[in-house]
Amino acid sequence: MHTVYNEAEKRIFTRLITRQGKGFTVFRKIPKVDRILEWQGIKTACGLYPRPVVMEAIRSVLDSLRTEISRGDSSIESLNDSAITERILAALESSTAPSLKRVINGTGVVIHTNLGRAPLPESVREKLLDTAFGYSNLEFDLESGERGSRYSHVEPLLCRLTGAEAALVVNNNAAAVLLSLTALAKGKEVIVSRGELVEVGGSFRIPDVMRQSGAILKEVGATNRTHPSDYRQAIGTETGLLLKVHTSNFAIVGFTTELTPSALVEMGREFSIPVMADIGSGNLFDFSAAGIAGEPMVQEFVRAGIDIVTFSGDKLLGGPQAGIIVGKKSCVDPLKKHPLLRALRIDKMTLAALEETLRLYLDDRRARQQIPTLRMLTESLASLSAGGKKAVRRLRRALPDSVKVSLVDGFSQVGGGALPLLELPSKLLSISIDGISAGTLEKRLRNFSVPIVGRIRNETYLLDVRTILEPDIPVIISALLSISGEVKQR
Ligand SMILES: *Cc1c(COP(=O)(O)O)cnc(C)c1O
Repeated sequence: MHTVYNEAEKRIFTRLITRQGKGFTVFRKIPKVDRILEWQGIKTACGLYPRPVVMEAIRSVLDSLRTEISRGDSSIESLNDSAITERILAALESSTAPSLKRVINGTGVVIHTNLGRAPLPESVREKLLDTAFGYSNLEFDLESGERGSRYSHVEPLLCRLTGAEAALVVNNNAAAVLLSLTALAKGKEVIVSRGELVEVGGSFRIPDVMRQSGAILKEVGATNRTHPSDYRQAIGTETGLLLKVHTSNFAIVGFTTELTPSALVEMGREFSIPVMADIGSGNLFDFSAAGIAGEPMVQEFVRAGIDIVTFSGDKLLGGPQAGIIVGKKSCVDPLKKHPLLRALRIDKMTLAALEETLRLYLDDRRARQQIPTLRMLTESLASLSAGGKKAVRRLRRALPDSVKVSLVDGFSQVGGGALPLLELPSKLLSISIDGISAGTLEKRLRNFSVPIVGRIRNETYLLDVRTILEPDIPVIISALLSISGEVKQR
């Protein structure tokens, strides 16, 4: 078999031959693909992976070898059979490994959008297996034997929990806002306070969503203060909706005024205009008993008489990604018939997880114990301290002396755009390994087979006890064992 070299390779050849005369011989030491395929290790790999995948791995390793030789940074040892086999097997493994995987959240940010937001309650597992791997009554009315609605599985539950007349669920809260604005205010003006024109991140901005929906944004008031008179002056024949947006990820403090939900509802009634609230995180649980105040509950908005309320399923609620819409029948029913709903509809697995999570809310105590988000957020410092001490003992017992572990004070955050200013006192594992910097340790743990995500404070690597789950500890131990072992060998 002839190897065909491209122009760049030929140029490198010429340079190597003329400069040192040695390069060419090194190139010739690179084995041919046919020969590589005869090696035992590669033959075994051919039985495990599809042949085209193996060929691709071989070619990519040979390409890298050529590049290394031309740069002069390859040794003769890197060209022996076993070294090349090892590289090909590693390339195969990384090219076929799944991309999405479990990670350990040691950041202390409970609802971490980049880490998949809310971990689901354990009771969802069974329900998911049951409904996702078989057939279900997703859109089948078992009583009449006729076609049913997928939304019927959670609507009564949501009404019961929030006190609303009607409910609907979609793909996420962004979809809930888009659908509501499109169905209720397309071509009409929607009045919003200037202080509530938020960007949530991931390019969800109220003015942009408004444009997409075909509604016309009419801002009123100033950034810090909006008065009833501002709304009153803006309301006209073109007004379709009054919108209140929860300023989830920032806070305006100091000299401020905004309309309460009840005041806005009163205004809407006066002019016969529906009132909508996008409350973002939307919790159903009363956190004030656990000392976390300031995040309004969905029930309060419904009780205030808001016609349509939208919120996320995977923020403070602690369920799967979903957008939940609750409110008056007169406002929710048009959404159920809107053609856009089909494009935004919720999947059966999500629906199963959502129903199961919502069922836990029927009993406050069960919700608090079994929904990880609620459990983590309401865990007391004493309990975090006890859990942290236990983890320190387990780590010390399992790890060599070169790994130092201790428990320090720190703060966790709610995340998910809720209570941005709140710092929850917490306990953190402080970890260091002799002969390795905090930065290197952070990187190595992040690249472990089960990635571990922590943070560095004052040159110290930290894992927040609050967001670490019980099964995470053995993984942290094996990661630290492997890293400290490698350090020792060097
Ligand atoms: C998070 C948030 C959204 C977007 O919700 P997703 O479920 O992420 O689509 C919309 N509005 C507010 C106020 C939010 O906080």
